[in-house]
Amino acid sequence: MRYGMVVDLDRCIGCRSCAVICKTHNAEPEGIWWNRVFVPGAPEYGTSVKVNGAPRMEFVPISCQHCENAPCQSVCPTGATYTDDTGTVLVDYDRCIGCRYCMTACPYNVRQFNWGKSPDIKSADGKTYSYGYPEEYRENGHLVYTPHRPDGVVEKCTFCKQYTSQGLEPACCSGCPANARIFGDLDDPNSSVSKYLEGKKTFILGKEHNTRPKVIYVSSTRGTLQEV
Ligand code: SF4
Ligand code: SF4
Repeated sequence: MRYGMVVDLDRCIGCRSCAVICKTHNAEPEGIWWNRVFVPGAPEYGTSVKVNGAPRMEFVPISCQHCENAPCQSVCPTGATYTDDTGTVLVDYDRCIGCRYCMTACPYNVRQFNWGKSPDIKSADGKTYSYGYPEEYRENGHLVYTPHRPDGVVEKCTFCKQYTSQGLEPACCSGCPANARIFGDLDDPNSSVSKYLEGKKTFILGKEHNTRPKVIYVSSTRGTLQEV
């Protein structure tokens, strides 16, 4: 099994729902965004670029690429970063010592250092709730999701391990209003991702790094966004 995600750049409307949904479901602390949506060629959100005199705006959502040859994993001195049997690259928060070697090694700049805990939320009746999905998830002893993870760890997209372990899809996929994100097993020819990719023109990010990402982009036919 090799879990992967397809992001169709023709469908993405740049609403950033995926980024917000990801943040809320994964209890990402203030300032941390596991999933970000970039506008190539436009330094500020809301600015379109002109191609052949015509305005055009395109979007590239970027999160962990779940590389098969993950440099973040090979540099981790404690074994905190590992790849599980679904091909998902994870961080064991119990083992992470916050050295940030992995942040330096990742060519996609998707890992972020956690400077502080996620806030708890107080309801009107005075009760306190966890921010994000409330239950801890451990895999073979590894702590790979908890809304109360310690500050001082490095975090990133887990393909929503707390949901995929239950047979559900990542929150960004179910929350995308344009159905631009598809999740499934790249090794299964009948999976939703394999079927979706049939006949499509695709690319991966940063192939020069030989990281072999499992996030695959369907090229935009609206403009020139084939590879960034
Ligand atoms: Fe694009 Fe979907 Fe993310 Fe909106 S939610 S920015 S349409 S991928
Ligand atoms: Fe590691 Fe970065 Fe690849 Fe994710 S994108 S697996 S953090 S090297």
